[in-house]
Amino acid sequence: MFVMQEGLFGPDHLDIIEEAVSISEEVACDYFSALAGRWIRYPYEICTLRDVCDEEHPVNAFAHLVWYGTYLMDKQSGKDSREFYRICLNDPNILDHTSGGRPDRLLPFMIYVITHELVHITRFSTYNFHPGREDKTREEEKVHCITGEILAPVRISGLDRVLDRFKGHQNLS
Ligand SMILES: [Zn+2]
Repeated sequence: MFVMQEGLFGPDHLDIIEEAVSISEEVACDYFSALAGRWIRYPYEICTLRDVCDEEHPVNAFAHLVWYGTYLMDKQSGKDSREFYRICLNDPNILDHTSGGRPDRLLPFMIYVITHELVHITRFSTYNFHPGREDKTREEEKVHCITGEILAPVRISGLDRVLDRFKGHQNLS
């Protein structure tokens, strides 16, 4: 049974997030698959504050990406997945920012957040780009730019406003 908890996503919010995930995956896949000339798959899962452990907590961010990698030399067989990611969402921050998770605000906002994290994952996993601490700000700017490029043609009510909000590259994670 789903117990409603103050400050956490309820079932209606989770439905909207699921919709945001499928839209984000579709547009990000189309974008990167065209660039790579092959189908890109994302080894990841989404979790909310109900599921995260302390180390995965997004603290003040809207979301936090956690990488569970298996270094190539540790691989046991070709079947082992090389890496896996968890996108950890910060329920209360996202709810605060979307007027308590109003559907017309939550959907475009989550499309931005998830697409942004998928851009990170693609750059990490496909291009094997793991920025050092000093490169993080530059990487963040790049990811905001690409996210804006991917989402610019997507016609979802309220998305333009979200794109404007992140144009200045405010921190997301
Ligand atoms: Zn980011």
